[in-house]
Amino acid sequence: LSERLGGVFDRLTKQGALSEDDVRSALREVRVALLEADVSLPVARNFVKSVEKKATGAAVTKSVTPGQQVVKIVHDELIDVLRGEGEPGSLRIDSAPAPILMVGLQGGGKTTTTAKLAKRLKDRDGKKVLMASLDVNRPAAMEQLQILGTQIGVDTLPIVKGEDPVTIAKRAKTQASLGGYDVYMLDTAGRLSIDEELMAQVEAVRDVSNPRETLLVVDGLTGQDAVHTAENFDQRIGISGVVLTRMDGDGRGGAALSMRAITGKPIKFVGLGEKMDALETFEPERVAGRILGMGDIVALVERAQQTLEAEQAERMMKRFQKGQFNMNDLKGQLEQMMKMGGMGAMLQMMPGAAKMAKQLDDAGMDDRVLKQQIALIQSMTKAERANPQILQASRKKRIAKGSGMEVSDLNKLLKMQRQMADMMKKMGKMGKGGALKQAMR
Ligand code: GDP
Ligand code: MG
Repeated sequence: LSERLGGVFDRLTKQGALSEDDVRSALREVRVALLEADVSLPVARNFVKSVEKKATGAAVTKSVTPGQQVVKIVHDELIDVLRGEGEPGSLRIDSAPAPILMVGLQGGGKTTTTAKLAKRLKDRDGKKVLMASLDVNRPAAMEQLQILGTQIGVDTLPIVKGEDPVTIAKRAKTQASLGGYDVYMLDTAGRLSIDEELMAQVEAVRDVSNPRETLLVVDGLTGQDAVHTAENFDQRIGISGVVLTRMDGDGRGGAALSMRAITGKPIKFVGLGEKMDALETFEPERVAGRILGMGDIVALVERAQQTLEAEQAERMMKRFQKGQFNMNDLKGQLEQMMKMGGMGAMLQMMPGAAKMAKQLDDAGMDDRVLKQQIALIQSMTKAERANPQILQASRKKRIAKGSGMEVSDLNKLLKMQRQMADMMKKMGKMGKGGALKQAMR
């Protein structure tokens, strides 16, 4: 996939300005690349569509080629889809003993992951964990978990030959309660493919154990199959999260994307090897970087954006020093306040201005008021924003009406803008190249 995309974007970066059509054709190739990486067709299609929407409206950062910009947008969107809601790596294991059901195909890494996760819960969270193997199909499966348990210092349910999975699950529950365990993990039997008999078995186990978490363990290298598996397990059993194993291989992890998009279930952990500590919290940034394989370009665009922001701040500061603080500036400040849920970034950085910011805050500058003030500014024409002094009675009425506010509200806003302009000027004189400049850095 990376090679593929690399080619696409190389070509793009060599073109000068990128038209809408260019973006579209580039993304067509991205779609093909995603499909080649085993992302399912509807997922690839939707993903490209959402990126196209964002890319078309977005401005290209100065000193960045349009192609590079597209890489960054693709990358950010990938992270968004991969992340979803909730904290990666978190498990609902509050009510002791909390059952965790491990499900998945044979060879996907269930038993290994059960032990890895048990070790993590013990070491990191100080939990007392009991593991039980319900795999009555494969003769050595129970011993496999027992050996791993001994290795990591986690208890396993004693093996009783001839029991069926439901009986073992019940026994695990009893043992976990009596033994004062925080968590008990049920490692189910594998299956080679979705198989009705085994599915019914897992269902029965689910019903007697009522798991707090049902984790699907899938081989991250199996692409589309993994997604198909996830869909099936989710429909039949209901999963609460996914563990992607074998992410230490050379696969691009494209399955992660379809998995997220199709099941909507969070990817909680990734397996990165056969060793017992090779389990990590899922990090969307890392996996996105891997699917795309273009970290250099992403870093370059991020750097360019930072530089540009610094330049903009500098320019703004120069204008403030000359007492130029118009409605556009005020709008910028108000929007910053909204974003930060508090004082404007610019204000906060300036000595002395913090006091004024506090006054604004005390005057009830909550979100509602901020929104109203921004609405007022939005009702102004370009000329009015740049030169608020041209606002006479008729213009004021029009603006107030346009934003559903009173003229008195507008007057308050104008007063605030004048005070700010005044203060900026004073501070500019006070600290010519000194305090103010430093504060803005
Ligand atoms: P199960 O049938 O689902 O219980 O699968 P197992 O836990 O027995 O794992 C099958 C094989 O995959 C074993 O050899 C494991 O060591 C290996 N394995 C599991 N997880 C990983 C992983 O994250 N990376 C690598 N490289 N191997 C893994
Ligand atoms: Mg197993």
